[in-house]
Amino acid sequence: MNNIVAIVGRPNVGKSTFFNRLIQRREAIVDSVSGVTRDRNYGKSEWNGKEFSVIDTGGYIKGSDDIFEAEIRKQVELAIDEADVIVFVVDVEEGITPMDEEVAKLLRKITKPVLLAVNKVDNAMREKDAYEFYNLGLGEYFTIAGMNGSGTGELLDKLVEILPEVPSNEEEETLPRFCVVGRPNAGKSSFINALIGEDRYIVTDIAGTTRDAIDTRYTRFGFDFNLVDTAGIRRKAKVKEDLEFYSVMRSVRAIEHSDVCILMIDATRGFESQDQNIFWLAEKNRKGIVILVNKWDLIEKDTMSARDFEKKIRKEIEPFTDVPILFVSALTKQRLLKALEETVNVYENRKQRIATSKFNEHMLTIIENFPPPAIKGKYIKIKYCMQLPTPTPQFVFFANLPQYVKEPYKRFLENKIRENWNFEGVPIDIYIREK
Ligand code: GDP
Ligand code: GDP
Repeated sequence: MNNIVAIVGRPNVGKSTFFNRLIQRREAIVDSVSGVTRDRNYGKSEWNGKEFSVIDTGGYIKGSDDIFEAEIRKQVELAIDEADVIVFVVDVEEGITPMDEEVAKLLRKITKPVLLAVNKVDNAMREKDAYEFYNLGLGEYFTIAGMNGSGTGELLDKLVEILPEVPSNEEEETLPRFCVVGRPNAGKSSFINALIGEDRYIVTDIAGTTRDAIDTRYTRFGFDFNLVDTAGIRRKAKVKEDLEFYSVMRSVRAIEHSDVCILMIDATRGFESQDQNIFWLAEKNRKGIVILVNKWDLIEKDTMSARDFEKKIRKEIEPFTDVPILFVSALTKQRLLKALEETVNVYENRKQRIATSKFNEHMLTIIENFPPPAIKGKYIKIKYCMQLPTPTPQFVFFANLPQYVKEPYKRFLENKIRENWNFEGVPIDIYIREK
Protein backbone atom coordinates (compact mmCIF):
# COMPACT_ATOMS: atom_id res chain seq x y z
CA MET A 1 0.00 0.00 0.00
CA ASN A 2 1.20 3.45 -0.88
CA ASN A 3 1.18 6.74 0.89
CA ILE A 4 -1.08 9.28 -0.74
CA VAL A 5 0.17 12.74 -1.65
CA ALA A 6 -2.42 15.36 -2.55
CA ILE A 7 -1.52 18.45 -4.54
CA VAL A 8 -3.71 21.40 -3.61
CA GLY A 9 -3.84 25.07 -4.54
CA ARG A 10 -5.91 27.51 -6.50
CA PRO A 11 -6.27 27.28 -10.30
CA ASN A 12 -3.36 28.13 -12.63
CA VAL A 13 -0.57 27.98 -10.09
CA GLY A 14 0.92 24.97 -11.90
CA LYS A 15 -0.47 21.97 -10.03
CA SER A 16 -1.02 19.80 -13.07
CA THR A 17 2.36 20.74 -14.56
CA PHE A 18 4.02 19.62 -11.35
CA PHE A 19 1.84 16.50 -11.15
CA ASN A 20 2.77 15.47 -14.69
CA ARG A 21 6.41 15.86 -13.85
CA LEU A 22 5.99 13.52 -10.89
CA ILE A 23 4.25 10.72 -12.72
CA GLN A 24 5.76 11.09 -16.19
CA ARG A 25 8.22 8.27 -16.24
CA ARG A 26 5.97 5.67 -14.72
CA GLU A 27 2.84 6.59 -16.64
CA ALA A 28 4.68 6.21 -19.92
CA ILE A 29 5.32 2.59 -19.00
CA VAL A 30 1.78 1.89 -17.86
CA ASP A 31 0.25 3.48 -20.94
CA SER A 32 2.45 1.52 -23.28
CA VAL A 33 1.17 -1.64 -21.62
CA SER A 34 -2.52 -0.86 -21.58
CA GLY A 35 -2.55 1.32 -24.65
CA VAL A 36 -5.10 3.59 -23.00
CA THR A 37 -4.76 6.85 -21.16
CA ARG A 38 -7.26 7.34 -18.42
CA ASP A 39 -7.60 9.27 -15.24
CA ARG A 40 -4.95 11.95 -15.65
CA ASN A 41 -5.25 13.23 -12.13
CA TYR A 42 -4.16 10.16 -10.26
CA GLY A 43 -0.90 8.34 -10.68
CA LYS A 44 2.05 6.68 -9.03
CA SER A 45 5.41 8.22 -8.50
CA GLU A 46 8.69 7.12 -7.07
CA TRP A 47 11.68 8.92 -5.63
CA ASN A 48 14.78 7.46 -3.98
CA GLY A 49 13.19 4.03 -4.17
CA LYS A 50 10.03 5.06 -2.33
CA GLU A 51 6.74 4.73 -4.14
CA PHE A 52 3.72 6.91 -3.46
CA SER A 53 0.42 7.80 -5.10
CA VAL A 54 -0.28 11.34 -6.22
CA ILE A 55 -3.60 13.08 -6.70
CA ASP A 56 -3.93 16.41 -8.45
CA THR A 57 -7.01 17.74 -6.72
CA GLY A 58 -7.37 20.60 -9.16
CA GLY A 59 -7.67 18.24 -12.08
CA TYR A 60 -11.17 17.19 -11.11
CA ILE A 61 -12.60 20.65 -11.50
CA LYS A 62 -13.61 21.63 -14.97
CA GLY A 63 -13.82 25.18 -16.18
CA SER A 64 -11.31 26.21 -13.58
CA ASP A 65 -11.57 29.93 -14.29
CA ASP A 66 -14.68 30.65 -12.32
CA ILE A 67 -14.61 28.15 -9.52
CA PHE A 68 -15.67 29.32 -6.15
CA GLU A 69 -13.55 29.72 -3.13
CA ALA A 70 -15.93 27.35 -1.35
CA GLU A 71 -15.09 24.69 -3.90
CA ILE A 72 -11.37 24.97 -3.24
CA ARG A 73 -11.97 24.93 0.47
CA LYS A 74 -13.93 21.66 0.21
CA GLN A 75 -11.21 20.11 -1.87
CA VAL A 76 -8.55 21.06 0.60
CA GLU A 77 -10.62 19.74 3.50
CA LEU A 78 -11.12 16.43 1.76
CA ALA A 79 -7.45 16.23 0.86
CA ILE A 80 -6.62 16.87 4.50
CA ASP A 81 -8.91 13.99 5.51
CA GLU A 82 -7.70 11.49 2.99
CA ALA A 83 -4.08 12.19 2.11
CA ASP A 84 -0.91 11.48 4.08
CA VAL A 85 1.04 14.46 2.84
CA ILE A 86 -0.19 17.67 1.26
CA VAL A 87 1.75 19.71 -1.25
CA PHE A 88 0.39 23.24 -1.38
CA VAL A 89 1.36 24.97 -4.60
CA VAL A 90 1.42 28.76 -4.92
CA ASP A 91 2.51 31.04 -7.76
CA VAL A 92 5.38 33.49 -7.37
CA GLU A 93 4.18 35.53 -10.37
CA GLU A 94 0.91 36.33 -8.66
CA GLY A 95 2.17 36.53 -5.11
CA ILE A 96 -0.10 35.73 -2.19
CA THR A 97 -3.78 35.95 -3.06
CA PRO A 98 -6.74 35.91 -0.64
CA MET A 99 -7.50 32.38 -1.73
CA ASP A 100 -3.95 31.28 -0.86
CA GLU A 101 -4.47 32.77 2.57
CA GLU A 102 -7.71 30.83 3.00
CA VAL A 103 -6.00 27.58 2.10
CA ALA A 104 -3.03 28.33 4.34
CA LYS A 105 -5.41 28.94 7.23
CA LEU A 106 -6.84 25.44 6.83
CA LEU A 107 -3.41 23.89 6.52
CA ARG A 108 -1.97 25.60 9.55
CA LYS A 109 -4.51 23.81 11.72
CA ILE A 110 -3.57 20.26 10.82
CA THR A 111 -0.90 17.91 12.08
CA LYS A 112 -0.33 16.10 8.78
CA PRO A 113 2.80 17.18 6.95
CA VAL A 114 2.38 20.05 4.51
CA LEU A 115 4.97 21.09 1.95
CA LEU A 116 4.71 24.56 0.51
CA ALA A 117 5.87 24.75 -3.10
CA VAL A 118 6.40 28.20 -4.55
CA ASN A 119 6.12 27.55 -8.27
CA LYS A 120 7.25 29.40 -11.41
CA VAL A 121 10.55 30.34 -9.83
CA ASP A 122 12.21 30.22 -13.25
CA ASN A 123 15.16 32.48 -12.45
CA ALA A 124 17.24 33.85 -9.58
CA MET A 125 15.30 37.10 -9.42
CA ARG A 126 12.21 35.23 -8.47
CA GLU A 127 13.97 33.47 -5.59
CA LYS A 128 13.80 36.80 -3.80
CA ASP A 129 10.17 37.34 -4.71
CA ALA A 130 9.42 34.08 -2.97
CA TYR A 131 10.25 35.48 0.47
CA GLU A 132 6.77 36.87 0.87
CA PHE A 133 5.38 33.34 1.16
CA TYR A 134 6.80 33.09 4.67
CA ASN A 135 3.79 35.23 5.51
CA LEU A 136 1.53 32.23 4.94
CA GLY A 137 2.76 30.93 8.28
CA LEU A 138 3.62 27.49 6.99
CA GLY A 139 7.33 27.78 7.63
CA GLU A 140 9.97 26.66 5.21
CA TYR A 141 9.06 26.58 1.52
CA PHE A 142 10.52 25.07 -1.63
CA THR A 143 11.04 27.16 -4.72
CA ILE A 144 10.38 25.15 -7.83
CA ALA A 145 9.68 25.53 -11.52
CA GLY A 146 7.33 22.76 -12.44
CA MET A 147 7.83 23.57 -16.08
CA ASN A 148 11.54 22.70 -16.26
CA GLY A 149 11.80 20.68 -13.06
CA SER A 150 14.24 22.90 -11.21
CA GLY A 151 13.93 22.65 -7.44
CA THR A 152 11.63 19.66 -7.59
CA GLY A 153 14.44 17.30 -6.55
CA GLU A 154 14.88 19.03 -3.20
CA LEU A 155 11.15 19.03 -2.62
CA LEU A 156 10.95 15.31 -3.40
CA ASP A 157 13.89 14.53 -1.11
CA LYS A 158 11.95 16.14 1.70
CA LEU A 159 8.69 14.53 0.66
CA VAL A 160 9.96 10.95 0.78
CA GLU A 161 11.75 11.71 4.02
CA ILE A 162 8.52 12.66 5.77
CA LEU A 163 6.27 10.00 4.24
CA PRO A 164 4.83 7.90 7.05
CA GLU A 165 6.18 4.35 7.24
CA VAL A 166 4.09 1.86 5.32
CA PRO A 167 3.95 -1.69 6.67
CA SER A 168 5.65 -4.08 4.28
CA ASN A 169 3.46 -6.56 2.48
CA GLU A 170 4.98 -9.61 4.12
CA GLU A 171 3.76 -8.57 7.52
CA GLU A 172 0.23 -8.17 6.35
CA GLU A 173 -2.10 -11.03 7.01
CA THR A 174 -3.03 -13.45 4.28
CA LEU A 175 -6.80 -13.05 4.41
CA PRO A 176 -8.35 -11.78 1.19
CA ARG A 177 -9.04 -8.06 1.24
CA PHE A 178 -12.17 -6.72 -0.41
CA CYS A 179 -13.38 -3.15 -0.57
CA VAL A 180 -16.70 -1.62 -1.49
CA VAL A 181 -16.43 1.49 -3.62
CA GLY A 182 -18.79 3.70 -5.57
CA ARG A 183 -20.26 7.15 -5.80
CA PRO A 184 -22.05 8.68 -2.81
CA ASN A 185 -25.51 7.16 -2.25
CA ALA A 186 -24.89 4.11 -4.40
CA GLY A 187 -25.69 2.03 -1.31
CA LYS A 188 -22.27 1.07 0.01
CA SER A 189 -23.06 1.44 3.69
CA SER A 190 -26.47 -0.22 3.25
CA PHE A 191 -24.70 -3.15 1.60
CA ILE A 192 -22.15 -3.44 4.37
CA ASN A 193 -24.78 -3.09 7.08
CA ALA A 194 -26.91 -5.74 5.41
CA LEU A 195 -23.95 -8.09 5.48
CA ILE A 196 -22.53 -7.52 8.91
CA GLY A 197 -25.41 -5.95 10.79
CA GLU A 198 -24.45 -5.03 14.30
CA ASP A 199 -23.65 -8.54 15.49
CA ARG A 200 -20.56 -8.19 17.64
CA TYR A 201 -19.77 -11.89 17.62
CA ILE A 202 -19.15 -12.11 13.93
CA VAL A 203 -17.64 -8.71 13.41
CA THR A 204 -14.35 -7.59 14.78
CA ASP A 205 -13.11 -4.16 13.95
CA ILE A 206 -9.39 -4.43 13.58
CA ALA A 207 -7.63 -1.16 14.02
CA GLY A 208 -5.63 -0.98 10.82
CA THR A 209 -1.89 -0.75 10.70
CA THR A 210 -2.29 2.62 9.07
CA ARG A 211 -4.16 5.64 10.28
CA ASP A 212 -7.36 5.44 8.35
CA ALA A 213 -7.61 1.93 6.98
CA ILE A 214 -9.88 0.13 9.36
CA ASP A 215 -10.72 -3.39 8.31
CA THR A 216 -13.66 -5.48 9.33
CA ARG A 217 -13.22 -9.21 9.35
CA TYR A 218 -16.19 -11.08 7.94
CA THR A 219 -16.65 -14.69 8.99
CA ARG A 220 -20.11 -15.86 8.17
CA PHE A 221 -21.69 -18.44 5.89
CA GLY A 222 -18.28 -19.98 5.39
CA PHE A 223 -16.62 -16.75 4.26
CA ASP A 224 -13.47 -15.37 5.81
CA PHE A 225 -12.11 -12.12 4.49
CA ASN A 226 -11.39 -8.53 5.44
CA LEU A 227 -13.58 -5.68 4.29
CA VAL A 228 -11.19 -2.79 3.85
CA ASP A 229 -11.96 0.63 5.29
CA THR A 230 -15.49 -0.41 6.12
CA ALA A 231 -15.64 1.55 9.31
CA GLY A 232 -14.55 4.54 7.28
CA ILE A 233 -17.44 4.13 4.89
CA ARG A 234 -19.94 3.72 7.69
CA ARG A 235 -18.58 6.45 9.90
CA LYS A 236 -17.90 9.20 7.45
CA ALA A 237 -20.30 12.09 7.31
CA LYS A 238 -22.38 11.98 4.19
CA VAL A 239 -21.20 14.22 1.42
CA LYS A 240 -24.10 15.75 -0.41
CA GLU A 241 -22.10 16.83 -3.39
CA ASP A 242 -21.78 14.18 -6.02
CA LEU A 243 -18.43 15.23 -7.39
CA GLU A 244 -15.96 13.04 -9.18
CA PHE A 245 -13.29 14.30 -6.88
CA TYR A 246 -14.98 12.95 -3.76
CA SER A 247 -15.40 9.42 -4.97
CA VAL A 248 -11.86 9.28 -6.28
CA MET A 249 -10.31 10.75 -3.16
CA ARG A 250 -12.33 8.46 -0.94
CA SER A 251 -11.75 5.28 -2.93
CA VAL A 252 -8.07 5.46 -3.70
CA ARG A 253 -6.76 4.23 -0.39
CA ALA A 254 -9.26 1.40 -0.08
CA ILE A 255 -8.63 0.29 -3.67
CA GLU A 256 -4.87 0.29 -3.29
CA HIS A 257 -5.22 -1.72 -0.11
CA SER A 258 -7.51 -4.42 -1.53
CA ASP A 259 -7.27 -7.52 -3.65
CA VAL A 260 -10.75 -7.22 -5.11
CA CYS A 261 -12.95 -4.12 -5.41
CA ILE A 262 -16.71 -4.37 -5.29
CA LEU A 263 -17.93 -1.45 -7.39
CA MET A 264 -21.48 -0.42 -6.49
CA ILE A 265 -23.60 1.25 -9.13
CA ASP A 266 -26.94 2.92 -8.47
CA ALA A 267 -29.39 1.22 -10.86
CA THR A 268 -31.60 4.28 -10.89
CA ARG A 269 -28.74 6.39 -12.26
CA GLY A 270 -27.00 4.04 -14.62
CA PHE A 271 -23.28 3.77 -15.24
CA GLU A 272 -21.88 7.29 -15.36
CA SER A 273 -18.48 8.89 -15.67
CA GLN A 274 -17.84 8.73 -11.92
CA ASP A 275 -18.47 5.00 -11.91
CA GLN A 276 -16.17 4.67 -14.88
CA ASN A 277 -13.48 6.62 -13.13
CA ILE A 278 -13.56 4.38 -10.07
CA PHE A 279 -13.52 1.33 -12.32
CA TRP A 280 -10.38 2.68 -13.97
CA LEU A 281 -8.74 3.32 -10.61
CA ALA A 282 -9.22 -0.34 -9.76
CA GLU A 283 -8.07 -1.50 -13.18
CA LYS A 284 -5.06 0.77 -13.13
CA ASN A 285 -4.07 -0.74 -9.79
CA ARG A 286 -4.56 -4.22 -11.28
CA LYS A 287 -7.16 -5.17 -8.69
CA GLY A 288 -9.92 -7.71 -9.14
CA ILE A 289 -13.30 -6.13 -9.90
CA VAL A 290 -16.93 -7.12 -9.37
CA ILE A 291 -19.69 -4.76 -10.43
CA LEU A 292 -22.89 -4.72 -8.39
CA VAL A 293 -25.88 -2.90 -9.80
CA ASN A 294 -27.65 -1.97 -6.59
CA LYS A 295 -31.25 -0.81 -5.92
CA TRP A 296 -32.45 -3.31 -8.48
CA ASP A 297 -35.69 -3.46 -6.46
CA LEU A 298 -36.54 0.02 -7.75
CA ILE A 299 -36.33 -0.83 -11.43
CA GLU A 300 -39.47 -1.52 -13.44
CA LYS A 301 -38.44 -4.70 -15.12
CA ASP A 302 -40.44 -4.06 -18.32
CA THR A 303 -38.64 -0.81 -19.07
CA MET A 304 -35.11 -1.99 -18.44
CA SER A 305 -33.92 -5.56 -18.48
CA ALA A 306 -30.83 -6.75 -16.70
CA ARG A 307 -29.43 -7.80 -20.05
CA ASP A 308 -29.75 -4.30 -21.54
CA PHE A 309 -28.22 -2.77 -18.47
CA GLU A 310 -25.35 -5.20 -18.54
CA LYS A 311 -24.66 -4.53 -22.20
CA LYS A 312 -24.46 -0.79 -21.56
CA ILE A 313 -22.00 -1.25 -18.72
CA ARG A 314 -19.77 -3.56 -20.75
CA LYS A 315 -19.63 -0.95 -23.48
CA GLU A 316 -18.44 1.64 -20.96
CA ILE A 317 -15.67 -0.47 -19.51
CA GLU A 318 -14.08 -1.57 -22.78
CA PRO A 319 -11.63 -3.08 -23.46
CA PHE A 320 -11.56 -4.83 -20.08
CA THR A 321 -15.04 -6.33 -20.18
CA ASP A 322 -14.46 -9.76 -18.66
CA VAL A 323 -15.97 -8.64 -15.36
CA PRO A 324 -18.86 -10.12 -13.35
CA ILE A 325 -21.92 -7.87 -13.21
CA LEU A 326 -24.64 -8.72 -10.69
CA PHE A 327 -28.00 -7.14 -9.96
CA VAL A 328 -28.60 -6.78 -6.25
CA SER A 329 -30.57 -4.95 -3.63
CA ALA A 330 -29.02 -4.00 -0.34
CA LEU A 331 -32.53 -3.18 0.85
CA THR A 332 -34.19 -6.55 0.17
CA LYS A 333 -30.86 -8.38 0.49
CA GLN A 334 -31.40 -9.91 -2.91
CA ARG A 335 -28.32 -11.80 -4.20
CA LEU A 336 -25.93 -10.35 -1.62
CA LEU A 337 -24.38 -13.71 -0.80
CA LYS A 338 -24.11 -14.48 -4.48
CA ALA A 339 -22.20 -11.21 -4.76
CA LEU A 340 -19.77 -12.31 -2.08
CA GLU A 341 -19.29 -15.69 -3.74
CA GLU A 342 -18.49 -13.95 -6.99
CA THR A 343 -15.99 -11.70 -5.21
CA VAL A 344 -14.24 -14.74 -3.74
CA ASN A 345 -14.15 -16.32 -7.21
CA VAL A 346 -12.46 -13.25 -8.62
CA TYR A 347 -9.98 -13.35 -5.77
CA GLU A 348 -9.15 -16.97 -6.62
CA ASN A 349 -8.92 -16.18 -10.34
CA ARG A 350 -6.43 -13.45 -9.58
CA LYS A 351 -4.27 -15.74 -7.47
CA GLN A 352 -4.14 -18.69 -9.83
CA ARG A 353 -0.83 -19.80 -11.27
CA ILE A 354 -0.75 -21.69 -14.53
CA ALA A 355 1.93 -24.34 -14.83
CA THR A 356 4.45 -23.34 -17.48
CA SER A 357 4.23 -26.66 -19.34
CA LYS A 358 0.42 -26.46 -19.60
CA PHE A 359 0.59 -22.81 -20.64
CA ASN A 360 3.10 -23.48 -23.40
CA GLU A 361 1.28 -26.53 -24.61
CA HIS A 362 -1.94 -24.60 -25.07
CA MET A 363 -0.67 -21.21 -26.20
CA LEU A 364 2.07 -22.37 -28.59
CA THR A 365 -0.45 -24.45 -30.54
CA ILE A 366 -2.64 -21.37 -30.94
CA ILE A 367 0.33 -19.22 -31.90
CA GLU A 368 1.45 -21.77 -34.48
CA ASN A 369 -1.97 -21.64 -36.14
CA PHE A 370 -2.29 -17.85 -35.88
CA PRO A 371 1.23 -16.39 -35.74
CA PRO A 372 1.82 -12.64 -35.41
CA PRO A 373 1.62 -11.04 -38.86
CA ALA A 374 4.96 -10.70 -40.63
CA ILE A 375 6.22 -7.13 -40.84
CA LYS A 376 8.51 -5.88 -43.61
CA GLY A 377 8.98 -9.43 -44.74
CA LYS A 378 10.22 -10.51 -41.32
CA TYR A 379 8.64 -13.48 -39.61
CA ILE A 380 8.01 -13.29 -35.91
CA LYS A 381 8.51 -16.44 -33.93
CA ILE A 382 7.30 -17.08 -30.42
CA LYS A 383 8.88 -20.19 -29.03
CA TYR A 384 8.23 -20.00 -25.32
CA CYS A 385 5.89 -18.34 -22.86
CA MET A 386 5.05 -18.35 -19.17
CA GLN A 387 3.18 -16.72 -16.33
CA LEU A 388 5.41 -14.54 -14.17
CA PRO A 389 5.51 -15.10 -10.40
CA THR A 390 3.92 -11.70 -9.74
CA PRO A 391 1.06 -10.79 -7.36
CA THR A 392 -1.22 -10.00 -10.30
CA PRO A 393 -1.39 -12.13 -13.45
CA GLN A 394 1.32 -11.25 -15.95
CA PHE A 395 2.37 -13.31 -18.93
CA VAL A 396 5.51 -13.08 -20.97
CA PHE A 397 6.00 -14.34 -24.50
CA PHE A 398 9.53 -14.64 -25.83
CA ALA A 399 9.96 -13.63 -29.47
CA ASN A 400 12.81 -13.10 -31.89
CA LEU A 401 11.52 -9.63 -32.84
CA PRO A 402 9.43 -8.42 -29.87
CA GLN A 403 9.11 -4.87 -31.18
CA TYR A 404 7.06 -6.14 -34.13
CA VAL A 405 4.35 -7.70 -31.98
CA LYS A 406 1.66 -5.04 -31.87
CA GLU A 407 -1.25 -4.26 -29.56
CA PRO A 408 -3.93 -6.18 -31.52
CA TYR A 409 -1.93 -9.39 -31.33
CA LYS A 410 -1.39 -8.93 -27.62
CA ARG A 411 -5.14 -8.52 -27.23
CA PHE A 412 -5.58 -11.70 -29.23
CA LEU A 413 -3.25 -13.53 -26.84
CA GLU A 414 -5.11 -12.13 -23.85
CA ASN A 415 -8.44 -13.28 -25.26
CA LYS A 416 -7.06 -16.76 -25.83
CA ILE A 417 -5.81 -16.90 -22.25
CA ARG A 418 -9.21 -15.78 -20.98
CA GLU A 419 -10.96 -18.37 -23.15
CA ASN A 420 -9.00 -21.22 -21.67
CA TRP A 421 -8.50 -20.15 -18.06
CA ASN A 422 -10.86 -18.27 -15.81
CA PHE A 423 -9.60 -14.73 -15.26
CA GLU A 424 -13.02 -13.18 -14.90
CA GLY A 425 -12.81 -9.88 -13.03
CA VAL A 426 -9.02 -9.80 -13.22
CA PRO A 427 -6.89 -7.40 -15.28
CA ILE A 428 -3.96 -9.20 -16.89
CA ASP A 429 -0.74 -7.97 -18.46
CA ILE A 430 0.94 -9.36 -21.54
CA TYR A 431 4.61 -8.70 -22.25
CA ILE A 432 6.62 -9.62 -25.31
CA ARG A 433 10.32 -9.93 -24.65
CA GLU A 434 13.39 -10.90 -26.59
CA LYS A 435 14.21 -14.55 -26.07
P1 GDP B 1 -3.11 24.29 -12.39
O1 GDP B 1 -4.41 24.91 -12.77
O2 GDP B 1 -2.72 24.66 -10.98
O3 GDP B 1 -3.09 22.80 -12.58
O4 GDP B 1 -1.98 24.94 -13.31
P2 GDP B 1 -1.29 24.38 -14.64
O5 GDP B 1 -0.31 23.30 -14.33
O6 GDP B 1 -2.34 24.11 -15.64
O7 GDP B 1 -0.42 25.65 -15.06
C1 GDP B 1 -0.99 26.93 -15.25
C2 GDP B 1 -0.10 27.78 -16.14
O8 GDP B 1 1.14 28.02 -15.49
C3 GDP B 1 0.24 27.09 -17.46
O9 GDP B 1 0.19 28.02 -18.49
C4 GDP B 1 1.65 26.56 -17.22
O10 GDP B 1 2.36 26.48 -18.42
C5 GDP B 1 2.24 27.63 -16.32
N1 GDP B 1 3.33 27.10 -15.48
C6 GDP B 1 3.36 25.94 -14.79
N2 GDP B 1 4.56 25.77 -14.18
C7 GDP B 1 5.30 26.83 -14.51
C8 GDP B 1 6.66 27.24 -14.21
O11 GDP B 1 7.43 26.54 -13.52
N3 GDP B 1 7.07 28.43 -14.70
C9 GDP B 1 6.25 29.22 -15.48
N4 GDP B 1 6.75 30.37 -15.92
N5 GDP B 1 5.01 28.86 -15.80
C10 GDP B 1 4.53 27.68 -15.34
P1 GDP C 1 -23.57 5.16 0.36
O1 GDP C 1 -23.42 6.65 0.35
O2 GDP C 1 -23.02 4.55 -0.90
O3 GDP C 1 -23.04 4.50 1.58
O4 GDP C 1 -25.15 4.88 0.26
P2 GDP C 1 -26.18 4.47 1.44
O5 GDP C 1 -25.99 3.07 1.84
O6 GDP C 1 -26.15 5.52 2.49
O7 GDP C 1 -27.55 4.54 0.63
C1 GDP C 1 -28.04 5.74 0.05
C2 GDP C 1 -29.56 5.69 0.00
O8 GDP C 1 -30.01 4.64 -0.85
C3 GDP C 1 -30.19 5.40 1.36
O9 GDP C 1 -31.35 6.17 1.47
C4 GDP C 1 -30.53 3.92 1.30
O10 GDP C 1 -31.61 3.58 2.11
C5 GDP C 1 -30.87 3.74 -0.17
N1 GDP C 1 -30.58 2.37 -0.65
C6 GDP C 1 -29.41 1.70 -0.53
N2 GDP C 1 -29.49 0.48 -1.11
C7 GDP C 1 -30.76 0.37 -1.60
C8 GDP C 1 -31.46 -0.66 -2.32
O11 GDP C 1 -30.96 -1.73 -2.65
N3 GDP C 1 -32.76 -0.38 -2.68
C9 GDP C 1 -33.36 0.80 -2.36
N4 GDP C 1 -34.62 0.97 -2.76
N5 GDP C 1 -32.72 1.78 -1.70
C10 GDP C 1 -31.44 1.58 -1.31
